[in-house]
Amino acid sequence: MSENITGKVVVITGASSGLGEATARHLAALGASVALGARRVDRINALASELNSAGAKAIALETDVTRFDDLERLVDAAVQAWGRVDVIINNAGLMPHSPLDRVKVEDWNQTIDVNIKGVLYGIGAVLPHMKKQMAGHIINVSSVAGHKVRPGSAVYAATKAAVLMLSEGLRQEVKPYGIRTTVVSPGAVATDLPASITEPDVAAAIKDFYEHNAIAPEAFARAVEFAMSQPADVDVNEIIFRPTRQEF
Ligand code: NDP
Repeated sequence: MSENITGKVVVITGASSGLGEATARHLAALGASVALGARRVDRINALASELNSAGAKAIALETDVTRFDDLERLVDAAVQAWGRVDVIINNAGLMPHSPLDRVKVEDWNQTIDVNIKGVLYGIGAVLPHMKKQMAGHIINVSSVAGHKVRPGSAVYAATKAAVLMLSEGLRQEVKPYGIRTTVVSPGAVATDLPASITEPDVAAAIKDFYEHNAIAPEAFARAVEFAMSQPADVDVNEIIFRPTRQEF
């Protein structure tokens, strides 16, 4: 059990693997009620069953973050189950790196749809509830790539820079409603994320980098715990963390 986390209702997108799954486990163990969203419904159903069997509170709902209706349904399900929504973690994302001259239009569209619109839709789905509650916490997931671009990462970095800007605009707009905003920018974390790379040579290079550098997803879960566990009058707006051995 942890201060300011026990009893909170937390919606998590991209909860079927990686950072989302680790954070669901971490927050549920600290006494939060978690609403899990992702497209791989078998995985989030299994996770919700496991958490409920262990005495935690969890629900799961098939959610594609490129559809606003899906986000509304996920948030509504949490509100129906537990009466309110305290936190949303807009975490779903993908990273299909490739040089621009390979013109991977489908990858570009999907990255923009999931990484930018998905975050925006999550914000849009919780705002009416949080405004009414005059309280809430919106946690968006950017990346070190939102701060630094490298060859091959232009589209991904642009989407993650957009998340930084959305978060700062949101921070200023929601002041009157007592809503807190945090944007978390992780460095390399060992998850399935590199599997979203469709170009074999790029995938091989990134996989090698992750094998040598990535840290465990619980690092992200602890960053979320830190931001959530502050007293209501403390708003942790940005967290950037990297593996100690990561240079850029
Ligand atoms: P994973 O690939 O393990 O997880 C990505 C999650 O996003 C999955 O649960 C996947 O669920 C979900 N997702 C993808 N597309 C959609 C969609 N259309 N609708 C709903 N959910 C979707 O990677 P990570 O855990 O690493 O990624 C989580 C976030 O962390 C991303 O935003 C990523 O950019 C960010 N990040 C990760 C870093 C890392 O090194 N791992 C570093 C910096 C940032 P499903 O396929 O079931 O829908």
